Amino acid sequence: MYDTIIVGSGPAGYTAGIYLSRAGLKNRLITGYSEGGQLTTTTLVENYPGFENGIEGNKLVQTMRRQAEQFGTEMTFGFVQKIEGESSPFKVHLDNGEIIDTKAVIIATGSSAKYLGIEGEEEAVGKGVSACATCDAFFYKEREVLVVGGGDVAMEEALYLTRFASKVTVVHRRNELRASDIMVKRAQANDKIHWMLNYTPVKVTSNLMGMTGLDVRNNETGDIEHIQADGLFVAIGHQPNTDFLDGKLALDDKGYIQTQAGTAKTSVAGIFAAGDVQDPKYQQAITAAGSGAIAALDTLAYIDNL
Ligand code: NDP
Repeated sequence: MYDTIIVGSGPAGYTAGIYLSRAGLKNRLITGYSEGGQLTTTTLVENYPGFENGIEGNKLVQTMRRQAEQFGTEMTFGFVQKIEGESSPFKVHLDNGEIIDTKAVIIATGSSAKYLGIEGEEEAVGKGVSACATCDAFFYKEREVLVVGGGDVAMEEALYLTRFASKVTVVHRRNELRASDIMVKRAQANDKIHWMLNYTPVKVTSNLMGMTGLDVRNNETGDIEHIQADGLFVAIGHQPNTDFLDGKLALDDKGYIQTQAGTAKTSVAGIFAAGDVQDPKYQQAITAAGSGAIAALDTLAYIDNL
């Protein structure tokens, strides 16, 4: 019997592992298929305290992983399909058929990139459409690409793409950008970045070779216009990864796990949540790590009282 199973391998999961194993609890972390989570697809993280010159996202999570392991957190590469039981102890079902008994569970499964859901998009994923510039920008050397979205991630993706592409056009559905001033200024200062504000994407066009462009609606005139491009990077936010819970925990209207104010407690005693899967607002590496510590401390108190 484990004290705690941690589901998810981003900063929230690894931080929970560091705290729990350091406190002497027997715990095991199930990584999910994208080990390390979203930080592995970002470039330089400049706002994580302790690294004055920034740190590569991938390096940051790998260091967290080793820190958790060195105190005794066990790591299993795999996917949790189901959590069985209405109260402690729970049975955690893995995709390899293993069933793990545990007193408590911490859900730290993060969130995944959202797509536009427009005509032609799904067929073009991997053939021009991507949600990760760090992963795919390399394929667009001296080519023209689009970034859809007006948030910080869209600015980051556009800036990263300028290292490879000859032209990067940001397409955003409103006249105002949601991104922070510092990110907008950096993007505006880059000559390779062009702007199409107040345009809504309606259709991805492709031929046998892959994507050819994007049809957009001019929101002022209502006219449909076509933009030729070799690649489209979708940066319109994320969807919390809660499907495997299958209604077990109370979620908010956007699908994020609801936690009791100021705690990591979910609607089921003994199951805790940390990181982006329960945070519709902040979604930063540092806030995810902080909530991982809160989840671990709440779990410790819960197990002490069992
Ligand atoms: P955001 O929610 O901040 O932005 C999403 C953007 O996508 C918005 O501009 C939104 O438009 C647009 N959008 C949403 N749905 C659609 C749609 N169906 N069609 C077209 N456009 C759409 O998400 P991000 O992923 O950019 O950022 C997530 C969080 O991470 C934020 O809190 C951000 O500040 C933070 N972050 C901070 C960084 C930093 O500080 N360095 C770096 C990266 C992320 P609209 O504006 O009209 O709603």
